[in-house]
Amino acid sequence: MSQRKLTKLTSKNYYDKSTDIEYQSATFFKKFLKCEAETMAELNGTYEGDMNQKALLVGNYLHSYFESPAAHKSFIDEHDDQIHKSNGDLYSEYITAESMIATLADDSGFNNFYQGKKEVIVTGQLGGVDWKGKIDCLNLDRKYFIDLKTTREIRRPIWNNEKQQKESFVAAYNYQFQMYVYQQLIYQQYGVLCQPQIIAVSKQDPPAKQVISIPPERLLEAKELLNDRQERIEELRSGLAKPNRCEECAYCRSTAKLGSIVSMDDLVS
Ligand SMILES: [Zn+2]
Repeated sequence: MSQRKLTKLTSKNYYDKSTDIEYQSATFFKKFLKCEAETMAELNGTYEGDMNQKALLVGNYLHSYFESPAAHKSFIDEHDDQIHKSNGDLYSEYITAESMIATLADDSGFNNFYQGKKEVIVTGQLGGVDWKGKIDCLNLDRKYFIDLKTTREIRRPIWNNEKQQKESFVAAYNYQFQMYVYQQLIYQQYGVLCQPQIIAVSKQDPPAKQVISIPPERLLEAKELLNDRQERIEELRSGLAKPNRCEECAYCRSTAKLGSIVSMDDLVS
């Protein structure tokens, strides 16, 4: 077990760089799997990250609505100029967000299901490493937790080049990994093994919605991924290993130098 004194996480510091350095999270673990160099640069503060700020804000707009009226109001106050035009109208992506909110808020099944504590911060150790997570909705009595996901289209297949097959948006974004981590952290903190559920809502007009379960074998797959890759990632985080560049992401493109020649036949793998 770690002997270090860890920062206590709050809603104010949860997304701070300093707590991203202290604690591993599903978001950063997945970033490491995509590009080590980009992720280390982001943690070191030399690169801003290619996170789509606009999409993130729209997601938070929806999340805060279902957290509480007070949370939603304070989110709007804080980001008013990005949400409202100067004439007071909503920007188009927030009109979409409003219709996504309405499709859930008007659904009695959703209202019955989305019950529990909201935005619960959990911490624990996985493989001897300190991890953090934030649960959208945690219901310990009924033994489940829910993550709200917004996506372009719920059933739209996404091509996985490595596996040479189509997969769902859940698999493409490795959300099963996030769900595995949350399940373990909740169990460590509360002693209750909860079933993960995703409630997805699409950005279509009108939006589609779906409750999505994660089969046990997918959670096992996530556990294996963590066990396989965590050692390397810890070497990177502690500065013992030199990060590899993916040469594809925005960070690698922005820091690349012309230096090698590649055959036309090797451009596409
Ligand atoms: Zn890269």
